[in-house]
Amino acid sequence: MSVVWSLAELEQGPTLRVAEIFHSIQGEGAATGRAATFVRLAGCNRACEFCDTDFSTFAELTVEEIAQIVRELNPRIGSRRAIVVFTGGEPTLQLTRERLVVFRRELPGVEFHVETNGSTLDRWQGTDWIERLTVSPKTPEDAATALRFFECARSSLAVDLKIVYDGQNLAPFDAAPRSIGRYLQPKAVANDPKTTARNIEKTIRYVKENPQWTLSLQLHKTLGLR
Ligand code: SF4
Repeated sequence: MSVVWSLAELEQGPTLRVAEIFHSIQGEGAATGRAATFVRLAGCNRACEFCDTDFSTFAELTVEEIAQIVRELNPRIGSRRAIVVFTGGEPTLQLTRERLVVFRRELPGVEFHVETNGSTLDRWQGTDWIERLTVSPKTPEDAATALRFFECARSSLAVDLKIVYDGQNLAPFDAAPRSIGRYLQPKAVANDPKTTARNIEKTIRYVKENPQWTLSLQLHKTLGLR
């Protein structure tokens, strides 16, 4: 179940609304298989019918409190190449530049990854606050915003597209720079294994015919991880 909140409501105040924080394995995209600590921020500005994220309960935590929980989950986080993934919901609604600066100060040496629907990326042009951005547009407007962002993204930022696929037209993404990673994830439909299986077939066929795209499966679900 998704909950739509306004930008103004989320980006102000001393705390962030946090649905959950946990340490696991990244199951999707370019960092698949790497250990990562996930900070799932509550709320979204989209209401996709297939959304399986529950934001009905959350805690209000300061950046310092979130960083402390991350350190407790991964005590050696500062001494190795560790990843913190901000996901949601739509994490960029709450991840202002100011808050990311404090995260950097609290968690030095950490690789920060952000998973976004792309809707707010006009505000993120020129960002050097994070190491990897994975954009998963859910509307044509979000796709257009993402493409504008890709054109000007700093070369030091790793950027990936991740599309939840059920056969839609992907031609607009041909305009994305070649350096952008392209990941296609079959759309899973709750309680409808036949449609899910058809989407898996369509995705495999598309990737075979369009080798610029990479099949991305949700490894964490296959392994029964969070
Ligand atoms: S953008 Fe993502 S989190 Fe937001 S409603 Fe859609 S699927 Fe759910």
